[in-house]
Amino acid sequence: MQSDEMPWRWFVEHQTPYTSIIHKVKRIIYSGKTEYQQVDIIETYDLGICLVLDGKVQSSTKDEWIYHETLVHPTLFTHPKPKNVLIIGGGEGATAREVLKHKCVEKAIMIDIDKQVVELSKKYLREICENVFEDPRLELIFTDGRKFVEKTSTTFDIAIIDVTDPLSGGPSYLLYTKEFYEKLYQRLSDDGILATQATSTFYSIDCFLAIYNTLSKVFNIVKAAHVWIPSFASTWGFVIGSKKYDPEELEIEYLEEKIKERKITNLKFYTPKIHKSVFVLPPHIERRLKEENRIIRDEQPIFMPA
Ligand code: SAM
Repeated sequence: MQSDEMPWRWFVEHQTPYTSIIHKVKRIIYSGKTEYQQVDIIETYDLGICLVLDGKVQSSTKDEWIYHETLVHPTLFTHPKPKNVLIIGGGEGATAREVLKHKCVEKAIMIDIDKQVVELSKKYLREICENVFEDPRLELIFTDGRKFVEKTSTTFDIAIIDVTDPLSGGPSYLLYTKEFYEKLYQRLSDDGILATQATSTFYSIDCFLAIYNTLSKVFNIVKAAHVWIPSFASTWGFVIGSKKYDPEELEIEYLEEKIKERKITNLKFYTPKIHKSVFVLPPHIERRLKEENRIIRDEQPIFMPA
């Protein structure tokens, strides 16, 4: 067997206490601890350059657009004319990049707790953030997303929650609770829509189901979606809460018109057919969504299995 020329490094990502995914590391670009989390930017052979926070892959240059286009476009196309968008999290800039592709968006406020993640993304992850941080429509505020929502009096058409998974001891678990969603509901316009990343629909399906059920206690229209994301080695869940419009009711022809009307030409994953497909869930998940009764509360938060 060919011996390795150098002492190879492996990045091990734990999905549960019993399953981990390992990636051979070509280069460690950055590694350090911020006030809020461990940040590693590594180059791997199969995923390209990855942003890793607290040991969890956030984005990889080989497939990040699948996650970010699925998180953003089904929601932005469901709203007839989104102008003011709130992004919570999204430090590497890809969520903002996708939101600002919609020329009808006049203002996007991006709240991230960790200024260093944004600075590091600007420095090392230009392939992901491109020049989004220079877009005059984008306002960056470095604070806790929960505190911002509790204090702001601004109303938004759309809120996109793209924070890290709810890890015990991590900075984001209080952005998955009923109390938070109720406060955010108040900050949305009468036809406002919220979309949140909702973790793996396999390894952390209990989180996904509980996020869906919790949002269903706050919004009258709640839809679950999922899509396979290679760099997460799993199908990944998203949940949309809407006050008025149902994302599943949009027809392919309408969506084709909207893409043209908003002059969006640089989509790499989202299409009208993909829009319809992400809401198609297998029977076992559909059944469990109906049966789920856990409500995530500040006093009873939910955490990832690893
Ligand atoms: N795409 C990633 C994923 O897999 O879900 C998440 C994107 S992004 C890297 C996650 C961001 O959430 C990070 O930049 C982190 O700093 C931010 N974050 C975590 N907790 C937060 C909080 N309480 N308020 C605001 N931002 C937070």
